[in-house]
Amino acid sequence: MDKIRIENLELYAYHGVFPEENEEGQLFVVSADIYVDTLQAAREDDLSRSVDYGAVCHFIKQWMDTHTVQLIETVADILARELLLAYPLIQKIVLEVKKPDAPIGLPFEYVSVTAERAWHTVYVGIGSNMGDRETYINDAVKLLHGQRDCNVAKASGLYTTAPYGYTDQPEFLNGALCVKTLQTPAQFLDTLHAIEQHLGRERKIHWGPRTIDLDILLYDDMVMSTETLTIPHIDMENRLFVLKPLDEIAGFVRHPILGKTIHQLYTQLESK
Ligand code: ADP
Ligand code: MG
Repeated sequence: MDKIRIENLELYAYHGVFPEENEEGQLFVVSADIYVDTLQAAREDDLSRSVDYGAVCHFIKQWMDTHTVQLIETVADILARELLLAYPLIQKIVLEVKKPDAPIGLPFEYVSVTAERAWHTVYVGIGSNMGDRETYINDAVKLLHGQRDCNVAKASGLYTTAPYGYTDQPEFLNGALCVKTLQTPAQFLDTLHAIEQHLGRERKIHWGPRTIDLDILLYDDMVMSTETLTIPHIDMENRLFVLKPLDEIAGFVRHPILGKTIHQLYTQLESK
């Protein structure tokens, strides 16, 4: 991936843990690696197809002029995120904030914090089998897309499927979404749970009827398992109602453990 680098942009600001720092201010020095595909801009010699580094520098200055926080960790985190949100062509940013005059009382060149932030691609399984299923699904998509750091990039069609696991319940309507997000897997799971709650989901019977169910199927090519979150979704390769809609929007995406594409997994399960 191509990269635009801003090296040692000097700014005066008031971030710090000590009151003197917040009152008197000091020098901060910001560097950024901005990952962006520059080929189109280069071939057409057209700035509008790239990221204007001058504008980025002024964006950073503007933020520094109007905010005061305690930690340079916070400065790096917020600036990286705000730049990703403000400039959609930026896919990843590595942002370093240096504090050459930090009040340490010993000789040193500078202290710094570097934050790496990026857009992630998540595939989400969505299902409903209570009430007006299609409205619940559409509302969930709107709520997800309405998050500042989530964009629903693709949505599959919706399919009617027989219930799975606990079978004495109405038919499901199922689909899949491709979402671009700045959230970590854990944050994204919290977001999905908040949307489920907002739409009146109650967890009474495991695998029981629900107004809405939102599951993380894939997150980039991540493989992880904690008590509350397993990625890729634990049983997706055995569920036609997951693979069928997912095949529509992610047929060529490879399952990071099984090594097969979604299309291969789908056709394999369908012919069983
Ligand atoms: P299910 O989706 O299996 O029908 P629930 O929606 O009630 O059941 O989810 C039960 C729990 O599964 C959630 O509270 C969550 O912590 C956990 N979980 C583990 N991995 C995932 C994942 N990839 N996506 C969503 N939930 C997950
Ligand atoms: Mg679920």
